Amino acid sequence: MTEKRLASEQRADAAERLERERERLAALLPGGTIDRPIEVASSSVIEGRAQDSIPCPHCGGQYRVVEHTRPIPSRRRVDVQCRHCSTPRTLWFRIVPDDVN
Ligand SMILES: [Zn+2]
Repeated sequence: MTEKRLASEQRADAAERLERERERLAALLPGGTIDRPIEVASSSVIEGRAQDSIPCPHCGGQYRVVEHTRPIPSRRRVDVQCRHCSTPRTLWFRIVPDDVN
């Protein structure tokens, strides 16, 4: 293995660590896990929120919705993919209707 090759592998490792760190931080944001869902007033706004208000943590790009499912009654799962760098991500939402007092 040449030194040049070694250096480039070290850079790749550093980049990989940075990417993992970004993923970890993204998971801490609202919507990053099933336990930290983004609250919305109705299911009709979910896909808009996923695409318009949540940037890709890797490149800041906009997401597109791949799949929108309801794994359990109180949660919506939206699988998205970055339009720019193609990184997939899962976002979680909870519907909290306005008219519930
Ligand atoms: Zn991206």
